[in-house]
Amino acid sequence: MRRISIFGATGSVGSQTVDLVRAAIATAPDTARVVAVTGGRNVARLARAARDLRAEIAVIADSARLPDLRAALAGSGTEAAAGEGAILEAADRPADWVMSAIVGVAGLAPGLRALGHGATLALANKESLVSAGEMLLARAARHGGRILPVDSEHSAIFQALGSEPVEAVARLTLTASGGALRDWPLERLAQATVADTMRHPNWSMGQRITVDSASMFNKAMEMIEARELFGVAPGRIEVVLHRESIVHSLVAFRDGATLAHLGVPDMRHAIGFALNWPERRALPVAPLDLTALGRLTFETPDPVRYPAIGLAREAMALRGGAGAAFTAAKEVALDHFLAGGIGFSEMAGIVGATLDRLAGTGALNDAPVTLDDVLAIDGLARVRAGEAVRASRARTGQRAG
Ligand code: NDP
Repeated sequence: MRRISIFGATGSVGSQTVDLVRAAIATAPDTARVVAVTGGRNVARLARAARDLRAEIAVIADSARLPDLRAALAGSGTEAAAGEGAILEAADRPADWVMSAIVGVAGLAPGLRALGHGATLALANKESLVSAGEMLLARAARHGGRILPVDSEHSAIFQALGSEPVEAVARLTLTASGGALRDWPLERLAQATVADTMRHPNWSMGQRITVDSASMFNKAMEMIEARELFGVAPGRIEVVLHRESIVHSLVAFRDGATLAHLGVPDMRHAIGFALNWPERRALPVAPLDLTALGRLTFETPDPVRYPAIGLAREAMALRGGAGAAFTAAKEVALDHFLAGGIGFSEMAGIVGATLDRLAGTGALNDAPVTLDDVLAIDGLARVRAGEAVRASRARTGQRAG
């Protein structure tokens, strides 16, 4: 009987995981049971997931919502709990397969806990790998845990790589749709609103990752993730603009062969692959019809339109704590963009200024070894990014005046 926990069960990846797990249990009731489901603030969706999956415990991060959660779970047999500590306790409950789908750096600690108990961690949360890749891999190795990538690009690489050693890899190619603003004239990007960035041409995802897709900060994070997960040198990781989002990534081997992973853009593929691994089972995803598609296109992304790609290279060259600083600065910039405080094109400048300032003081020299190290860099980067936001506002205000 496989024990399953889902962190971030109320989000985009989390709810799709809930659906797949529910279907798997309906097909074979004695093969799995659900230990924990967690959410941030969405009590109704969390309670529904807990009831559907007959989870042992449901945890909501926002403690003020515990009474609502208790009421929503009354008579269900599922325990209710709340707060960051309760999420960590849920991660300490023995589980064999754990989905890490909390958004942001808040996803790191539960993932570390689960790996520390030897679980298989299906990792959607990008921020964990970008800010603490070495730590996660070391934790998994020390405790017999395993990381299965859920990001579609890394799932694609994982599948194409098979059992080949990293030495056999000549190049990893991450594909990018280019996001909602890919055809906007460059001079209009500064005026893009949140609603404009949410019109993703191919994927249906959570709000933050959809905006990150338009800026390609999402792809920038994925480059760092790929370096951490697969141990491939940054110079061998490239990004290609692929408008159709059918080829999810490619691995070029030293013998000249290139293996690609293709499929319709549907996250249930990568989530289901991780859930069923090492087997392949039927999934509720549409089959690929290549002749209906007709053609697939590939272009080099414009570095002026997508400065995030260059910033990822800068962070990878800096190494040490640069990934944690990159993630934190990006989160601050994104928060301000979502709140209407800064323009779309200001985000990259804020991340770049934060990296430069911290690197200049030597604050990023050492890779984080503990969770506290990560949180210290995260805190410092958030302060510097806040200063960069104010400086950017002052500049654009002056321009507007
Ligand atoms: P969503 O915003 O849709 O969901 C995020 C989840 O995290 C929700 O369950 C939310 O709870 C929970 N949450 C938010 N803040 C906290 C907190 N402080 N403590 C505990 N839980 C919290 O995000 P996505 O599902 O889109 O993405 C999740 C992760 O997966 C991200 O790191 C993203 O980059 C990555 N990813 C997403 C993909 C996608 O297709 N969406 C693809 C590949 C990777 P609530 O909603 O209840 O507040």
